[in-house]
Amino acid sequence: TEPGTTAASLLERRERSFAAVQEHYFDSPPRIERGWREHLVDTEGRCYLDMLNNVTILGHGHPGLSEAVHQQWQRLNTNSRFHYESVVSLSERLAALLPDGLDTVFLVNSGSEAVDLALRLAWAAAGRQDVVAVGEAYHGWTYASDAVSTSVADNPGALASRPDWVHVLPAPNAYRGSHRGPDAERYGPLAADSIRELARSGRPPAAFICEPYYGNAGGMALPDGYLRQVYEATRAAGGLCVADEVQVGYGRLGSHFWGFEQQGVVPDIVTVAKAMGNGHPLGAVITSKEIADTYRSQGYFFSSAGGSPVSSVVGLTVLDALRDEGLQENARIVGGHLRDRLLELADRHPLIGAVHGTGLYLGVEFVRDRATLEPAAEETAAICERLRELGVVVQPTSDRLCVLKIKPPLCLTRESADRFAAVLDDTLTHGW
Ligand code: PMP
Repeated sequence: TEPGTTAASLLERRERSFAAVQEHYFDSPPRIERGWREHLVDTEGRCYLDMLNNVTILGHGHPGLSEAVHQQWQRLNTNSRFHYESVVSLSERLAALLPDGLDTVFLVNSGSEAVDLALRLAWAAAGRQDVVAVGEAYHGWTYASDAVSTSVADNPGALASRPDWVHVLPAPNAYRGSHRGPDAERYGPLAADSIRELARSGRPPAAFICEPYYGNAGGMALPDGYLRQVYEATRAAGGLCVADEVQVGYGRLGSHFWGFEQQGVVPDIVTVAKAMGNGHPLGAVITSKEIADTYRSQGYFFSSAGGSPVSSVVGLTVLDALRDEGLQENARIVGGHLRDRLLELADRHPLIGAVHGTGLYLGVEFVRDRATLEPAAEETAAICERLRELGVVVQPTSDRLCVLKIKPPLCLTRESADRFAAVLDDTLTHGW
C-alpha cells in the first residue's frame, strides 16, 4: 500500500480536505474501492453485504450499465438543447410508466433539484408560495427542498427554522405518533382539516409534498387513505400534490412500481432520482403539460447536464435492466422472505419493537421497552458498528435514529437476505 493510502491515513487526508459537515459512515470506515451486485469490497479484500444502498438498485459494478456509459462517452456528451434520440426516449419511457396526464418531463441531476423544481412549478401554477409538508421528512438540501425537510435527525433545528411559507403537519407515524395502530386513520382527516383551516385563514397552499411511503420515519406505509384525504383537501384549496418518489419509487416496494400506487392516488407532480441513475447523477420531474407550461412565467428552464446523452443513456439502461432482470419482482419475493425472517427475529428479541415496510424497503425499529417505545438509539448505533465488523453494511435512520435502514440493491439474493438475518440474530443474541 502506498504511504497515505491506508484506510486510516486516507481518512486523515479526507478530514483535511473535505468539508467535515459531509459525514462518513462508521467510526473507522473500511476503505471501499470495489463493488459487485449487493457486495462491497475493501482494499484488504474483505467483502461486505450492502444492505443500505438505496441508490444502486441494479447492484454495484453492473456490466451492461458500464458498457452503455462507456460507449456513449466515446460517441458524444452534450446538453439537451441539442437534438438527439436518448433524451426523447427517456422522457417517453418515464411518462409511459406514469398514469395518463403525467406526460411531460424535466430532467435534472439529483433528488434535491427535482424537489426544488417541483415546488417552483407548484408556485408558478398556483401563483402563491405556501406549502404543506409532513414531520419527519427529508426532501433535499437546496433552498426549497431543504425548507420542506422537517427531519430533526438531518437537522436538529429543522422545526424551528422553516421559512414561514412552510406548514408542517404532524408526522403520520402509525407506530409511535400520537395516533397509533388503527387509530392512525385519524391522521388523514386531521391533516385535511389543517389544510382547510389554512385556506380559511387566507393562506391556501400552492402544494402538499410528501413521500408516498414514509422513508425517513423508517420505511413505513402511510395510514390507509391518508394521501387520498390530504390530496382532496389540497386540491379543494387550489393546490397541487407532489409525490416525492426519489427514495421509494422505481420498484423498490416490490408490490408497486410507485409509492403513490399503494395509496390509490395520482399526484400532480412526481419527483424521481436516486434509483433512476443507479448512482449516476440523474433526476426527473414528471407532471402534466399544463403545469409544466406555467414555468414559462419564471423564464426558461435549462440544466447543463440534466438529460445529457450520457445521463439519458444511463436512465434508459437502468430501466431496461430493471425490466429484463425482473428486479421489482425480486424485491417483492426476496423482500417478503427477508421481512418474514425479521418478524421471526422480533418474536425472539424484545429489542425489536417493529418491522416496517414492504419489498426491499424495510426498517427494523429498536426500542428499550415495547410499551413505552423508548427509542434504543445508542443500541442501534452499536449494532450497526458490530454488523460492520461482521461484514454487513447498514445504518440507523428515523428522527430517533433507532431504525435499521434496510434498502439494499434490488438484486439481493435470498442467500444474502438469509445471511443478513443470521448475522443480525447472532448480534442480538450474543451482544454488540
Ligand atoms: N427526497 C427524498 C425522499 C430523499 O430520500 C432524498 C435523498 N435522501 C432526496 C429527496 C434528495 O436527493 P439527492 O440526495 O439526490 O439530492
